[in-house]
Amino acid sequence: MPRRATKIVATLGPASSEPVILEQMIRAGVNVVRLNFSHGKAQDHIDRARMVREAAQRAGREVAIMADLQGPKIRVGKFAEGKVFLEPGQKFVLDASRTELGDIHAVGLDYKSLPQEVKAGDVLLLNDGLIVITVDAVTGQQVHTTVKLGGELSNNKGINKQGGGLTAPALTGKDMEDIRTAMSFQADYVAVSFPKSATDMEMARQLCNVAAAEYNHKPGLIAKIERAEAIPKLEEILRASDGIMVARGDLAVEVGNAAVPALQKHMIKLAREFDKVVITATQMMESMITNPVPTRAEVSDVANAVLDGTDAVMLSAETAAGKYPLETVTEMAKICLAAEGSEMVKLDADFTGKTFTRIDQSIAMGALFTAYHLGAKAIVALTDSGSTALWMSRHLIHVPIYALTPRVSTQRKMTLYRNVRPLLMGTSADRDTALMDAEQHLKKRGIVQPGDVYAITCGEPMGAPGGTNMLKICAVS
Ligand code: PGA
Ligand code: MN
Repeated sequence: MPRRATKIVATLGPASSEPVILEQMIRAGVNVVRLNFSHGKAQDHIDRARMVREAAQRAGREVAIMADLQGPKIRVGKFAEGKVFLEPGQKFVLDASRTELGDIHAVGLDYKSLPQEVKAGDVLLLNDGLIVITVDAVTGQQVHTTVKLGGELSNNKGINKQGGGLTAPALTGKDMEDIRTAMSFQADYVAVSFPKSATDMEMARQLCNVAAAEYNHKPGLIAKIERAEAIPKLEEILRASDGIMVARGDLAVEVGNAAVPALQKHMIKLAREFDKVVITATQMMESMITNPVPTRAEVSDVANAVLDGTDAVMLSAETAAGKYPLETVTEMAKICLAAEGSEMVKLDADFTGKTFTRIDQSIAMGALFTAYHLGAKAIVALTDSGSTALWMSRHLIHVPIYALTPRVSTQRKMTLYRNVRPLLMGTSADRDTALMDAEQHLKKRGIVQPGDVYAITCGEPMGAPGGTNMLKICAVS
């Protein structure tokens, strides 16, 4: 069976919290499970993380856990009746000083500085852009608005400002608590919501590393690109992160729907150039929340993200709260595989005019080049930190990459890398034993057979991260 290179991130929720369903979803192709910290208490996440590890073990697959922090999502307060229906043309007040429940005229705010950060003429979008209001005036704690596009507004719906510009820091007190919770179960990735700069990511990194120190763990950090201000800062954010998420939901509200497809392509390309991973997210299979089959447009959307070069495609409500979590994963896996088959490899062009300063990186590129031109069956990387596999996976090549590591945490982290199949292998005493052990491992799993040729990289002395300095081409006997 052909091997899928693009990875699938699935969000856990009520629809996927039965251990049996989750196990089936993992068997169907989920590589990373996202725990959404916008919902649920600390203990819920701890229980769910354990469930994920157990389901992965039963399925015999390695799966990463991504803790997605809520971040400073700005929201309206609650309504006396739970919701109101706003009519176009009516006046509506967002009131930071309001303590009573909301009504058709006004509602409270959890983000108290909103009145200081908007001015007459600003456009605000409520409930993911389904409702549009414009600011007429700000008086003290009250933002007076006129409804342009009406609709139902219910408790705690989000507020975005068109064009961005709200100053709330990316990490809230709750996020800091949640980081500690996520590190208690050694989440493999932490996704930071609404970062505006590298500083936000550096701060998150510090908090994660401090909280994870007692477990001798270091999570990968994903910056969710969902603020207008993050776009011009993309390079510095990438440098400070291990990867980014094209968070199309909030991003589309801030920059406008029409700008998002081009931004998606730009972000994916840049992330790969920076040797970082990238996840494409939100509404990819939205209609499958209620329907057993995707729309043609959704099929194209997933396929196009694959062709853009994304490492992973993400499911949100489809698997968290939808009717068909398993079917959605199965469909998505099929679409990815079909799209990958039509890709053109341009490896030689990738290397034109490129120079490398690092020995390990040159070896990784040498392995790609050789495997491609030799028509090798596989590329194998013996890796401690996973960086060799990451470099290799930044280039499109139809030769599968098998990353063998003695570290479970590295194995889990690599589940997100495109075209990398991470496998666990014990440490070997010396180089020759390691090479022999690796071939045994690959043979046992049916990855290579007598007659096959593969390229393998390793470092000498063994076990020193960043020490890859050897490439060997092996013919299996
Ligand atoms: P969210 O992030 O689902 O946590 O809001 C993704 C997005 O905004 O697209
Ligand atoms: Mn978001």
